[in-house]
Amino acid sequence: MAASGRRRRRAAGKGRAGGPAASFAVAVAVAVVAAGCSGESGPAATAPEPAGAPPLQVVASFYPLYEFARQVGGDRVAVTNLVLPGIEPHDWEPSPRDAARIRSADVFIYLGAGFEPWVDRLLAELGPVGPRVVVATEGLPLVAWAPAAAGEDDHGHDPGPGQEKAEGADGPPDPHVWLDPVLAARQVELIRDALAEVDPDHAAAYRSGAQAYLERLAELDLAFRDGLADCRHRDVITTHDAFSYLGNRYGFRVHALMGLAPDAEPSPARLAALVRLARELGLRYVFFETLVHPRVAEAIAREVGAVTLVLNPIEGLTRAEEAAGEDYVSLMRRNLEQLRTALECR
Ligand SMILES: [Zn+2]
Repeated sequence: MAASGRRRRRAAGKGRAGGPAASFAVAVAVAVVAAGCSGESGPAATAPEPAGAPPLQVVASFYPLYEFARQVGGDRVAVTNLVLPGIEPHDWEPSPRDAARIRSADVFIYLGAGFEPWVDRLLAELGPVGPRVVVATEGLPLVAWAPAAAGEDDHGHDPGPGQEKAEGADGPPDPHVWLDPVLAARQVELIRDALAEVDPDHAAAYRSGAQAYLERLAELDLAFRDGLADCRHRDVITTHDAFSYLGNRYGFRVHALMGLAPDAEPSPARLAALVRLARELGLRYVFFETLVHPRVAEAIAREVGAVTLVLNPIEGLTRAEEAAGEDYVSLMRRNLEQLRTALECR
C-alpha cells in the first residue's frame, strides 16, 4: 500500500540556501564553484565572507534536524531542509540540485544509523572540499532493531555501506532517536558544537540558542514523565516501528505493524498477532501516522472495535502542519496527549 501511494518527489527550489544576503559577488563565486547547477545554491563554503556577513549555510537531511539547527542557529544561519513538507523521508533520495546544495553548504547535518542510505556515496563524491558534516547520531546509544514477532520479516532499511550496525545485535540500528526528547537534546548539543566550531565568532549566540531550546526539551521530557506516570496500559500499536526510543524512555511497549520504514505491507501473521494482542489487552486505540495511509491501522481497529489516533513520527511536517505553524515541540506535546488517551493515563 504505502509503496505505491508514496511519491518519490525531489526537493524543488523551496527553502533555498542563499537568502537576501547573497550578494552579486557571492553569486558569481557560486556560479564558478557550482557550475552546472541552476544557481539556487548558497555561497560556497570557500567563498570569502563579504562585509555584512551572510548567514551560515546549513543543510539538514530531514525535518527534525532542520528544526534543531534553526533553533540553535537563530538568524545566524540559513537552514535548508532537503525533504519538503508532505514527503515521507525514509526512501527519499537527493536530486543533483540537492547534491549541489550540500556541496556548497557550510554545514551538512544528517542523521546516520542507516536513515539516509544515499549519504555515503554523496559524501565520497564531494571529496576533500565540502561542508562540515554532522552525523546527528554520533555517540548516541543506538538500539538494534529486531522484528517484534514471529512471522514478521525485516522490512526496515538496511544500513548503507559504511553505516555501522548497533553493536552486539543482529538487526540494523533503529534511527528514530529524535522521538526521545532526551536523545533529541543530545542532537541539539552536537549541532551547537558544530556551528560554534565552523563559525567561532558567533559561538556564544549558538550556545545561547541551544540553551533556550534545551530547556524546552527538558520541559518536554518532564511533561512526558508526568503525563505517562500513571496509566492503565503499557502497550501501543503503531504503523511503522518509530517509537521504541520514546517507549523505552517512558515505559511503554511498542507493537508496530511494519518495520523500521513504512515501506511494506504487514504480513498476515503480523496483522493477526496484533489483532490478538489488542483483544487480549483490551486496547481501545490503534495509532496511524501522518505521512502514511491509515488503511491497515483502520482495518485492525475495525476488527477489534478500537479507534484510530495519530501518533506522529515527526519525520516531516505535512503541508497543513507547516501552514499551522506546528513544530517538533508542539507535535511532541500532541503525541503525549494521544499517548495519554491510548494508554488511558490519569
Ligand atoms: Zn521512520
